[in-house]
Amino acid sequence: MTLVDAWGPGNSRASSGGETRVIRAVYGPDRIYVEMVARAFELWKDNERRWNRKLYHRTGALWMVTGPDEFVRASLPLLSQLGFAYEELSPGEARRRWPQVDFEGVRWVLHEERAGYLLARASCAAAVEGFVREGGNFRETRVEPGPLLSGALGGLRTADGSVLSAEEYVFACGPWLPKVFPDLLRPLIAPTRQEVFFFGTPADDLRFSEGTMPVWVDIGTRLFYGIPGNEHRGFKIADDTRGAPFDPTSGERLVSPEGLRTAREFLARRFPALKDAPLVESRVCQYENTPDHRFVIDRHPGANNVWIVGGGSGHGFKMGPAVGERVADLVLGKRDVDPFFGLARFEKSASRAAAEVVS
Ligand SMILES: Cc1cc2nc3c(=O)[nH]c(=O)nc-3n(C[C@H](O)[C@H](O)[C@H](O)COP(=O)(O)OP(=O)(O)OC[C@H]3O[C@@H](n4cnc5c(N)ncnc54)[C@H](O)[C@@H]3O)c2cc1C
Repeated sequence: MTLVDAWGPGNSRASSGGETRVIRAVYGPDRIYVEMVARAFELWKDNERRWNRKLYHRTGALWMVTGPDEFVRASLPLLSQLGFAYEELSPGEARRRWPQVDFEGVRWVLHEERAGYLLARASCAAAVEGFVREGGNFRETRVEPGPLLSGALGGLRTADGSVLSAEEYVFACGPWLPKVFPDLLRPLIAPTRQEVFFFGTPADDLRFSEGTMPVWVDIGTRLFYGIPGNEHRGFKIADDTRGAPFDPTSGERLVSPEGLRTAREFLARRFPALKDAPLVESRVCQYENTPDHRFVIDRHPGANNVWIVGGGSGHGFKMGPAVGERVADLVLGKRDVDPFFGLARFEKSASRAAAEVVS
């Protein structure tokens, strides 16, 4: 088995190339995601044992509901059914537990106990090291699919002109998928520019560190989220609003003054003690968004030996091991494509949209 990556596992252009990513089970009414998170938790634990590395940090998650609460509310029965413990708190109760947070404007708070964060790029590196140790072959090179002939892909062209052939091909190229299969995926996966800020906390002040402060999500008309601790890279904060279209290969990764101003304003309001905290690091990454923000896990409609896996849409990292397991089952013929992640859902909505325009 050969794994190919153009710039290496968790490289700084990749969507997985950040330090940390949130893992949580609040997923609105979509049972399939909560089941996948439950499975992902098991597999992350297995992988930690297998690779002898701590990758998951349990901090809990604080959902601060400031606007409509359907998404968080709808997730509660699923959390209970699938064994994810949580507490519902009034802003007053939350204030007593986390006095470093200003809960002004918060309607209610959900404390999700098992949530936390994962080491992102370190996990990618560990996965590749583990794969090679177990006999896999890794190559750092960019590939392009050759022509699809008689409903199958015959090989991949590498940068040095050689051809890589296999029985089955899995393309999990994140925001590059629309470049690899432009006809099929350019209309379906749209990379957007996302900015992430890391603020320095005062020395000897552990109120904003892991162990004291959970991962948090401020969910209102806009969604901000953050990770304390964060591998000692600063107090991480990001705005989940989708940014401008972004090219993952050539895009420059310098944050904007407006983005920084918005992050600072939010920080000053929700975490007043960090009002004057200095920016210590920043990052520009990209989401790879599908129209409904669901993943794509399906066979290429024009090639029976090609699988497309992506469309993480800003929430794919935590699911990595569960998605990998699904894909392995698909390739081995042990499972059928789940229509929830299938490409056919876009044909339906496209034809429905066309019908709506006609009528
Ligand atoms: C700022 C930010 C915050 C996020 N927060 C969270 C979070 O808190 N929780 C969460 O679960 N998810 C989160 N996500 C989403 C998550 O990180 C992504 O969904 C996930 O990392 C996507 O992984 P991927 O493997 O599909 O793509 P990538 O990580 O982008 O990997 C694709 C790989 O394909 C390689 N490649 C591309 N083209 C080629 C080619 N032609 N030949 C060879 N190799 C190629 C690239 O080098 C790259 O390494 C966040 C994303 C961003 C940007």
